[in-house]
Amino acid sequence: MRRLPIFFVIDVSESMTGEPIELMEKGIENIVSSLRQDPHSLETVFISVIAFAGKAKTIAPLVDLISFYPPKIPVGGGTSLGSALNVLMDEIDTNVKKTTYETRGDWEPIVFLITDGKPTDDPSQAITRWQDKYAKNASLIAITLGLNADIDILNQVANPVLALENTDKNQFFKFIEWVSASVKAQSQMIELDNKNSPVSLEKVSNAGLRIMGNTSELNNHEASASDSSCVTLTGRCSSNRRPYLIKYAKPKLVEGMERFIQNHQYYHLEGAYKLEESYFEWSSDNYVAEQVDTSSLDGIPPCPQCGNQSAFAMCGCGKLLCIGDEDIVMCPWCEKSIKFSQGSGDFSITRGQG
Ligand SMILES: [Zn+2]
Ligand SMILES: [Zn+2]
Repeated sequence: MRRLPIFFVIDVSESMTGEPIELMEKGIENIVSSLRQDPHSLETVFISVIAFAGKAKTIAPLVDLISFYPPKIPVGGGTSLGSALNVLMDEIDTNVKKTTYETRGDWEPIVFLITDGKPTDDPSQAITRWQDKYAKNASLIAITLGLNADIDILNQVANPVLALENTDKNQFFKFIEWVSASVKAQSQMIELDNKNSPVSLEKVSNAGLRIMGNTSELNNHEASASDSSCVTLTGRCSSNRRPYLIKYAKPKLVEGMERFIQNHQYYHLEGAYKLEESYFEWSSDNYVAEQVDTSSLDGIPPCPQCGNQSAFAMCGCGKLLCIGDEDIVMCPWCEKSIKFSQGSGDFSITRGQG
């Protein structure tokens, strides 16, 4: 049997914390359950999921639809696109059967690369490797959630790059339906024509997706909209030492207000979320932190781990922790006792890579 391998390569950087990750988990489940109802897909489609933040790993190996079990999607710091592409290419080398004189291999793999940010590693070597050896025998479709991704870099590996500009729930699930429909159409087509053909882009606009050329083709507003749309900070709970993430986002663009918002670097509290210890395994080791001025951050969340009133206290070691009513707490990072005084004013803290 010739299999149709489908790879999902998913950005799980900090900016995806909260709703985006939940939508992504649900999205993958929906795709699989929709494909399971399609006899063509059931016969040919095999699915694998690769996640990438600071590190990239396969979180679901290539298996048929019936054996596929939706993985829990992790979160980490960083957007190592180069590592993600390398893991993908290694997976293709190991798990996709090539056509030889004696046997017919698998169908060309289809890759859906989903990202919302700019690479934090240098992906140039991986891009060259992809262009030299893989581009001709696979189709890679990149989908950016929002407009903060690096379209030009993605255009070097993907054909096409699609942007989901509006990332609310409804639009997201329309996009997920489009993915399912494309895979179904593809598995049907290979059965009928007995050859690979490119994924149809006919219905992308119905799914809220826009085909993105290189940014030189875009107007200024879009090019400059690519600065970071959120600030993420990592802390540890002083009660149970577990990590958490605080996420601030730029206010959503309101028509006519774009200029105003761009000139004001304000971020509103979006929420504070529990993190798993695995967050640190998924984060890059050598990350150069950026400083953010806390006066640009609006809102202080309670600790998502223990409910302490502020998850936003800083130790002399430079790390964030939560505090309640106590005057003295032990820093869960450096284990020194610290005394907090009221109203220490604005300070600069280290922000995540997003
Ligand atoms: Zn706490
Ligand atoms: Zn400390």
